[in-house]
Amino acid sequence: MSTLEIKDLYVHVETKEGTKQILKGASLTVNSGETHAIMGPNGSGKSTLAYTLAGHPKYVVDSGEALLDGQDILKMTPDERAKAGLFLAMQYPVEVPGVSMTNFLRTAKTEVDGEAPSIRTWTKELSAAMKRLKMDPKFATRSVNEGFSGGEKKRAEVLQLELLKPKFAILDETDSGLDVDALRIVSEGVNRAKEANQFGILMVTHYTRILKYIKPDIVHVFADGHFVKTGGPELADELEENGYDAYLPEGADSE
Ligand code: ADP
Ligand code: MG
Ligand code: MG
Repeated sequence: MSTLEIKDLYVHVETKEGTKQILKGASLTVNSGETHAIMGPNGSGKSTLAYTLAGHPKYVVDSGEALLDGQDILKMTPDERAKAGLFLAMQYPVEVPGVSMTNFLRTAKTEVDGEAPSIRTWTKELSAAMKRLKMDPKFATRSVNEGFSGGEKKRAEVLQLELLKPKFAILDETDSGLDVDALRIVSEGVNRAKEANQFGILMVTHYTRILKYIKPDIVHVFADGHFVKTGGPELADELEENGYDAYLPEGADSE
């Protein structure tokens, strides 16, 4: 079993207007096999938490640690983090013109595993995974995310998740911008990958609708840079009912 332990994380970014403190003492422990939903108002720092764990250079860690089986991943380079078993599905996946999906995925798989997958099994696995996600085989030869629709980008993220088999997956609003059919396909992909590999999931979401497809064991409310409440699935129902108003500073709006 693996454990990801986020301890009292403080993170800021430098902006033209000066230093902006975003994470303010975020702490969370996830074990493999568990699905945690992280729900919170827009602008509360959920993506910042995801980016910080993945190693985005913009996000400066002031203090705190993130231990993956005891090793502080915050001291690692982004590719070392991926090798250690961390995976991030981004809220806004980036386009990589000139790099085909096949090449990108095979390179990532080789990096993460430390050896190239055998061509025959890999090609089979890739096309089977694409088929399950109802992705046109043509996507394999297209540049990563270039000109993909919002839904296609999210499918491409889940395709990576299925193929790379991480220990922990952070899914940052993988549900946003999906219609009902795409949401179901993407959710089924996540559930399949989890079924096969029993990784831990940190599912960042603003809305409860994805939780009908991907059942969380634990639900957290994240507001103003840290976790303010933790509960079971019933906490999501409460949020659905009442929104985030109770967790916002006086006078702020939840949208
Ligand atoms: P969430 O994902 O919960 O909507 P974010 O982590 O995206 O929140 O953002 C939290 C706050 O930090 C927001 O006010 C956002 O504008 C700000 N922020 C995030 N990243 C940056 C950045 N790279 N530069 C400047 N401000 C940022
Ligand atoms: Mg946001
Ligand atoms: Mg976000």
